[in-house]
Amino acid sequence: MQTERWKISVGGIVQGVGFRPFVYRLAGDRALTGFVTNTPDGVVIEAEGQPAQLRNFLDALRKEAPPLSQVGEIVVVSIPLLHDNNFVLGHSTVSGPVSTLISPDVAVCQDCLSEFFSPNDRRFRYPFINCTNCGPRYTIIQRIPYDRPHTTMRDFVMCPACQREYDDPSNRRFHAQPNCCPDCGPQLGLVAANGQRLAEREEALSEAILRLAAGDIVAIKGIGGFHLAVDAANGQAVSRLRQRKNREAKPLAVMVADLAAARKLCRLETMEEQALESQERPIVLAAQKEGHGLAEEVAPGYDQFGLMLPYAPLHYLLFQGPVRALVMTSGNRSEEPICIENREAEQRLAEIADCFLVHDRGIHLPCDDSVVALQGGMIRQVRRSRGFAPKPLELGETGDMVLGVGAELKNTVCLLKENQAFLSQHIGDLKNLEAYRVFQKSIDQLASLFEISPSLIVHDLHPQYLSSRWAKEQKIVPTLGVQHHHAHLAACLAENHHEGPAIGIILDGTGYGPDQTIWGGEVLLGDSSGYRRFGGLESLPLPGGDAAVQGPWRTAVSYLFAAYGGNVPDLPFMAPHECGMILSMVQKRVSSPMTSSCGRLFDAVAAMGGGRQVIQYEAQAAIELMQAAGGLGEEVFPCEVYEENAMLKISVRSLVREVAQAVQAGMVYSEISRRFHAGLVAVFTSVVKEARLREKINTVVLSGGVFQNRLLLEGLTVSLDRVGFEVLLHKELPCNDGCISLGQAVIGRQALKKR
Ligand code: ZN
Ligand code: ZN
Ligand code: FE
Repeated sequence: MQTERWKISVGGIVQGVGFRPFVYRLAGDRALTGFVTNTPDGVVIEAEGQPAQLRNFLDALRKEAPPLSQVGEIVVVSIPLLHDNNFVLGHSTVSGPVSTLISPDVAVCQDCLSEFFSPNDRRFRYPFINCTNCGPRYTIIQRIPYDRPHTTMRDFVMCPACQREYDDPSNRRFHAQPNCCPDCGPQLGLVAANGQRLAEREEALSEAILRLAAGDIVAIKGIGGFHLAVDAANGQAVSRLRQRKNREAKPLAVMVADLAAARKLCRLETMEEQALESQERPIVLAAQKEGHGLAEEVAPGYDQFGLMLPYAPLHYLLFQGPVRALVMTSGNRSEEPICIENREAEQRLAEIADCFLVHDRGIHLPCDDSVVALQGGMIRQVRRSRGFAPKPLELGETGDMVLGVGAELKNTVCLLKENQAFLSQHIGDLKNLEAYRVFQKSIDQLASLFEISPSLIVHDLHPQYLSSRWAKEQKIVPTLGVQHHHAHLAACLAENHHEGPAIGIILDGTGYGPDQTIWGGEVLLGDSSGYRRFGGLESLPLPGGDAAVQGPWRTAVSYLFAAYGGNVPDLPFMAPHECGMILSMVQKRVSSPMTSSCGRLFDAVAAMGGGRQVIQYEAQAAIELMQAAGGLGEEVFPCEVYEENAMLKISVRSLVREVAQAVQAGMVYSEISRRFHAGLVAVFTSVVKEARLREKINTVVLSGGVFQNRLLLEGLTVSLDRVGFEVLLHKELPCNDGCISLGQAVIGRQALKKR
């Protein structure tokens, strides 16, 4: 058969992930000649040989690609023969624009782990072992191209043994930028709360393990920042952490040594186990098991644990002491971003940690642990961060470069380039100055790593958000304000490569409406080019605004007043509260903004039913209400629908009356919750059916933080499915405000197309 020569261009994540050595090996196995090289546009291969071997080679490129790579587009062109004698590994020709991608941080791989646990290996128990298939990436890169001098590893000069590995194409550490060993790389140290250096290396580790076993709070530097660690079986120790961190009740993440240990704490589905062991190593929310043996204080009143397995080599060592499970919560004060620098941590966490297990490999950008949960038959994101960022989402369309700056809470930023969306790690609550700095740094980082200069910056309509204000300060680039729930709708469509139009059921806590009321229980019609408010929950007064968010009983009183006017029934939950004050506030309309928030409706029902009156963390009342249900029943609280201002409004007042009557009749909380959830499913189904009838749209998008409620998500999905709707859910992004930046960006890009 005739010999052929193919030029094969490979796009995607193919730089710094062992791709060229892999190609070299594949070509060798198939007796091909030619070369492989890195170019600004990705990896380029010229391979010469029998067509059958070439086809087989091409197939293997995709199928057997190294774990960290993500092979994108492959373009093949037949070119004239060159009759080379062998296959060579060409040097990078990285000059000019680089469009290859930077990998996220990935858990230590099996090959490294077996070296790590081999007493004869030169990296035995070395906490910074890594290779081209694993280790830190996004959090250590300062600029491109991805070479050691451009990472926080630049201060460590490789020893001859490491350098040999680095230079050898057949070695697993060929061009592994963070490559190092105990002779040349970073080391551990233990620092007391007063800043005194207590111990180094192995001694630092064994001392830290002893202190953990004794109930101390140890701040541990990891991949994306510091954790605060404490023995999860020690109630007093966990309480002390809660007190010092000023975190009353919000569940704390737990790390255990392996899957077997995880199975002792939680009932795990196969998909949850796979997520736990995946290279991204997120926190997985899973159902607690009876007799788990952890302290009540880890997740008080919560029926799940946020579990994760070790991902940094150091984590494996922590479990060689007596402690079976460690609380590993973000090393920060309340809502601030996670600490990344030793000195910074020693200052900011001085009041919290008893000591600090630090190391001298720098972290360039903070990156919290990701959180996922099994919902609606799939592992879905709750917080997309370490392990995932900055891996791009593939979009169905291409267009201009656009920046979306996200929402105020659970902020992320998103940059679009061609058919890819680059989302930042979870940045957090932008009310906080530290977070605002990380926000700015993350935009700079993504823009420079992926060489994106946006021609439009898209922000939320809320004029007071720091992200909106930042956008308007960037004078050289035009800006566009986008409604919060429209962004939810557009994000979900974009993730699903669906053009729309769709009916969006967008349920969340708060989003600024163009009518200056607070939206949050919306049925929208639209796509990335626009939307119309078809209907949704009616708006009612929220007495004291934020005070009502903190105290669901206030919302309950207000909604009862709306439902009954002057004759508010006397329900048991009211007894301890100053209801008169709330009644006069809503009567006089004093600082009582109008809201259609679905989150607040959950709060009101929870409080009325005798559930949580004052919350200790976001959505606590709603979470506990959902947990009480245990499932959906046949019975529903019926809910009226009426037409007003050309919108189909769901009467929250009728629902509140149903709940109040049930409470008066002595119905148990769990049954109230079941009927409430089932009632919402029924009424939203009927509203979107009406929308389908009128608008001939059969696609429904579910988005907004309320859909983290698995009962509602699954109930509504089944109900809509049953009546023939195509239902679109988020897949790679959270349904909460972590998706807003993508929605903003795609809406902005669409607006540019129309200009
Ligand atoms: Zn490895
Ligand atoms: Zn070395
Ligand atoms: Fe939202």
